[in-house]
Amino acid sequence: MYDAIIIGARCAGSSLALLLARKGYRVLLADRTIFPSDTISTHLIWAPGLVYLRRWGLLPAIAASNCPPIRRVSVNLADPGLTGSPPPCDGIDFQYCPRRTILDKVLAEAAAVAGAELREAFTVEDVRRDSGRVTGIRGHSRSGRTISDRARVVVGADGVHSMLARATGAAEYNARPAMTCLYYSYWTGVEAAEVHFIVRSGSAVGAFPTNDGLTCIVSIERIERFAGIKADVEQRYLQSLEIAPEFRERVRAGRRVERIYGTAESRNFFRRPYGDGWALLGDAGYHKDPVTAQGITDAFRDAELLADALDEAFSGRRTYNEALAQYERRRNDSVLPMYELTCHLASLDPAPEQLQLTAALDGQQQQVDRFVGTFTGAVPMADFYAPENVARVLAAAGGQ
Ligand SMILES: Cc1cc2nc3c(=O)[nH]c(=O)nc-3n(C[C@H](O)[C@H](O)[C@H](O)COP(=O)(O)OP(=O)(O)OC[C@H]3O[C@@H](n4cnc5c(N)ncnc54)[C@H](O)[C@@H]3O)c2cc1C
Repeated sequence: MYDAIIIGARCAGSSLALLLARKGYRVLLADRTIFPSDTISTHLIWAPGLVYLRRWGLLPAIAASNCPPIRRVSVNLADPGLTGSPPPCDGIDFQYCPRRTILDKVLAEAAAVAGAELREAFTVEDVRRDSGRVTGIRGHSRSGRTISDRARVVVGADGVHSMLARATGAAEYNARPAMTCLYYSYWTGVEAAEVHFIVRSGSAVGAFPTNDGLTCIVSIERIERFAGIKADVEQRYLQSLEIAPEFRERVRAGRRVERIYGTAESRNFFRRPYGDGWALLGDAGYHKDPVTAQGITDAFRDAELLADALDEAFSGRRTYNEALAQYERRRNDSVLPMYELTCHLASLDPAPEQLQLTAALDGQQQQVDRFVGTFTGAVPMADFYAPENVARVLAAAGGQ
């Protein structure tokens, strides 16, 4: 009998396993994959996400993976773009973009070192129930051997198509339809020491320096174009990188070194993340368009929130329902402003007021630094977009 069985061992599941194991709980961490393992996702981690990795003692392993610290962020919603250095977050003034083959392995290994039982190549097929309460799982190894296990709680950190969410009928709320499709690949010889994000009428590109001198370049298009793109991915991906002259020149100087990866799975929704004997974490409980690159940081934060909630419930300091209700509230309070920004940016059609504000920011470097800090999460949106701050930016622009 385990305290927790966690389905899915990437950034959400392994983080939770690590935290629970360090608190002394008996944890089974199961994934159908074997690490190192890639997944469809770019992998920019803003400074607030790195704060968690540092706290857990894992930042040195990422730093040692030959992935450069990124100190500047360039956001171009209309020419001229804005480039700034986001304010530090808890003393961290850089971002990292480690490949998922590296990040997820570091996390899964750390969970195992902390004492969690890591079971790879194991597919969870269904949950076990007792009088309606989830009490365990049933799954199979690659050899086909069926295994059942019991736990006080089963956590689905099993991604957007969560088996546990389906099995428990976890209710969705505040949902918005998919607005974008994304394609990305890896390039050598592209000069990009900073994060680039460029939006032009229904299209966007992002570029992030990653391990081993490569640059991850992502193309984002409106979902309506998905069928056309799928019919000719290579051509359409390359075309989309012509988005702005200066960016086009950088790309033309480089060479693509991997295949093109893509997805149109960009639905936006919250799920009720708990019930009798079960909980959801990461994309399984809260999913949004990748355009703001928040998923990994969200997974880290929610792993801490859920570890604390389960610890309170297991130790009897709170009832299970009280502790888990608080987990849901804290998660939602933390992400709601960014959820709105994400859904707005995913329309790939910046609002006139946003364009007016970004035009006004040109030349106000301190405010530009704070503006790009809203993307990293280092500057709360409520502060930057407070009416008095917006008025200050507009007034300063008028006086220039
Ligand atoms: C194109 C794209 C780009 C993105 N870019 C960024 C970015 O730059 N920065 C960022 O922060 N976020 C980004 N995201 C979001 C980020 O990838 C996700 O938020 C993050 O991966 C969620 O992690 P997770 O652990 O919840 O789920 P996942 O990473 O989906 O992991 C789920 C795991 O569960 C396992 N699993 C599922 N079902 C079972 C089962 N039945 N039995 C056993 N194992 C199972 C899977 O094998 C998998 O390993 C992007 C997403 C996409 C799609």
